[in-house]
Amino acid sequence: NMTTVNLIEQLDWDKQQGLIPAVVQNHLSGKVLMLGYMDKAALTQTLETKAVTFYSRSKNRLWTKGESSGNTLTLVAIDLDCDNDSLLVQVIPAGPTCHLGRESCWKDDNAHPFINNLASLIASRKGQAADTSYTASLFERGTKRIAQKVGEEGLETALAAATHDKPEMIDEASDLMYHLLVLLEDQDLSMDDINANLMKRHAKASQN
Ligand code: AMP
Ligand code: ZN
Ligand code: ZN
Ligand code: ZN
Repeated sequence: NMTTVNLIEQLDWDKQQGLIPAVVQNHLSGKVLMLGYMDKAALTQTLETKAVTFYSRSKNRLWTKGESSGNTLTLVAIDLDCDNDSLLVQVIPAGPTCHLGRESCWKDDNAHPFINNLASLIASRKGQAADTSYTASLFERGTKRIAQKVGEEGLETALAAATHDKPEMIDEASDLMYHLLVLLEDQDLSMDDINANLMKRHAKASQN
């Protein structure tokens, strides 16, 4: 397979003395799961079997992640960095990747889209006095008003698209997403629920 050969040939094995650092990332959530090292045999086996395999410096042998725990990593994509001396390995994990039983060897919440920070800020406004912020005033006016705003902003977004006004589209889509976050919080839901559902659908769709 050409890509496999190219990848192995492009890597700067000499610079890394035969062991290339490989950052492992969940391909759906973007979370960084672990760091391992691959020699040529580990990389070849990973590409051939799709079961991510490292060279373990402590075991002194090839180590297929999950070989005893069952918490394997299935290869989705693999990429070189800018100077060909490290790999980004995107995977579907079968269970917790860290041997301590956590999803990641670093903090499980290490992928932080800004919209999650905004959602946290919105949640902190719930129950505060209405005159302290627009978000607090929306919560005070209640579900009906918030739902109405989502409807309005959705329509404004659609109109901006229909008139091919990109700056307006960005503004209206921002309004829509902000108000949708407020509505989710009002309904005791969060971005996590939406992300989980989207990922579930995606997993189903990619099985067929
Ligand atoms: P596993 O490959 O999951 O069957 O785990 C076998 C052994 O590999 C564990 O007992 C740990 O010593 C080591 N190990 C497993 N996962 C990791 C990890 N994410 N980072 C470093 N070492 C690990
Ligand atoms: Zn590099
Ligand atoms: Zn760990
Ligand atoms: Zn608007």
